[in-house]
Amino acid sequence: MTTRTTQDWHDLAGSVSGPTDLFIDGAFAEAAAGERFVTTDPSTGVEIAQVARAGAADVDRAVAAGRRAFESGVWSRQPAAYRKKVLLDLADAIDRHTDELAVLESRDGGKLISDTSEWDIPGTSAILRWYAETVDKTYGESAPVGPDALAVVSREPLGVIGAVVPWNFPLEMAMWKLAPALATGNSVVLKPAELTPMTALYLARLAAEVGLPDGVLNVVPGFGSDAGRALGVHMDVDAIAFTGSTRVGKLFLGYAGESNLKQVWPECGGKSAAVVCADVADLGAVADLVAGGIFACAGQVCSASSRLLVHRSRYDELLALVAERSCELRVGDPLDPETQMGPVISTGERDRILGEIESAAAESRLVAGGGVPSGPATAGAFLEPTILADVAPGQRLFEEEVFGPVLAATPFDTEEEAVALANSSKYALAASLFTDDLRTAHRVSDRLRAGTVTVNGVDAIDISVPFGGFGQSGYGRDLSLHALDKYTGTKTRWFAG
Ligand code: NAP
Ligand code: MG
Repeated sequence: MTTRTTQDWHDLAGSVSGPTDLFIDGAFAEAAAGERFVTTDPSTGVEIAQVARAGAADVDRAVAAGRRAFESGVWSRQPAAYRKKVLLDLADAIDRHTDELAVLESRDGGKLISDTSEWDIPGTSAILRWYAETVDKTYGESAPVGPDALAVVSREPLGVIGAVVPWNFPLEMAMWKLAPALATGNSVVLKPAELTPMTALYLARLAAEVGLPDGVLNVVPGFGSDAGRALGVHMDVDAIAFTGSTRVGKLFLGYAGESNLKQVWPECGGKSAAVVCADVADLGAVADLVAGGIFACAGQVCSASSRLLVHRSRYDELLALVAERSCELRVGDPLDPETQMGPVISTGERDRILGEIESAAAESRLVAGGGVPSGPATAGAFLEPTILADVAPGQRLFEEEVFGPVLAATPFDTEEEAVALANSSKYALAASLFTDDLRTAHRVSDRLRAGTVTVNGVDAIDISVPFGGFGQSGYGRDLSLHALDKYTGTKTRWFAG
């Protein structure tokens, strides 16, 4: 738990700097074309750094380094105890630099320091540690092929993994991919989002310091349309682990088809529903959770509960409570530990979201927010927490992910209707259900179509359970032992007599 004040965090922000070059084959280097791009702080618009911009030639070098490392066996064929130790050492190194990483993450992505210092960065090392512990605890199988033969089924690393991640949880999303990929012996080329490249490069420096062999982890910051695409179409990348929008997830499937049939694991968007039944006694507690479920991280969470479906008998009462919560939220400086909602990722995104709100307000009812907050916060990409009511199926706000602090509320009359409304989305990442009745909880949670259904909570997540969805939320699964399957293939060795 941090005891730093706002001033302490600003002082640290002023003194922390991380690497800004590409990380390839164990060394930091300029991009081949010598190009750089600017990354800014969305709470102020101020430039943080100019970062080397990887192009296709750099991705080529990174993939070649990953392949060389893989084939040499310097990581892929080392004893489990060694791989485990290096990964645990890296987790310890992250912990030693929690505050530096937290402040870099907060500035680069406008994320709350209270979140990055207490959740995102500690969560990142915890994930790494968890997968490091799997290295010497996962076993192959021997198959029942009869008395005259022996068939041994092992899980083999795939080779070179391309990891392409978004900007909302930059280091944590990266680690969701890196940890299981590295634990199973692969090499990785990581492309962070262009808006938030800083912590991935810092991680690369820590990896080099703890002795991860050269070429096993490469980091190529750059733009999706060149560095991301170059990874997607590369003939020597074995799999892509992608988190981001459904639009770009589909592009990666196309890239695989036009290149080497690499595996693609897309984890994409969502439009998750929170269903509130009539029987709930403590509507205030539900309002707290609903507000948290949409306004955390300024709504820029793939599994955010962006649709609120409420039994008509409790609709007005709950809406009023959630609106009250939204007005009480402290919006402002992400480096102030008391702030409850920071900016969205960029002024461009802010303006796009304002446009979504404006067109939604024309066909539904604006209950709270809807604009840019007044006061000191206006210098950055800030938005008011926003609630629209009476949003109907077919309307854009009901169907499409906004990826901002915008809640769409809809009443229902029957359980059947609630399930139909919740499941009518093209996405199916997460869902919530609020009820005080155990039978309703079992019955309705069983019928809600989503990768994770949380009963009497929102957005439950833990390293021990898989995270991912159905439909156009994609089919990749991060976290838990299931994620290991994405980075390995089964190999059978059959000993005949
Ligand atoms: P995005 O635009 O899809 O970008 C994701 C990554 O793909 C970035 O690294 C991006 O690079 C790259 N990319 C963009 N265009 C590309 C192209 N033409 N070819 C190859 N790569 C390309 O998503 P985002 O705006 O960063 O993140 C928000 C989205 O992520 C939301 O839809 C959200 O729901 C989803 N998300 C899903 C999960 C999950 O686990 N299911 C978790 C978090 C976020 P640039 O940065 O250079 O554009
Ligand atoms: Mg930035």
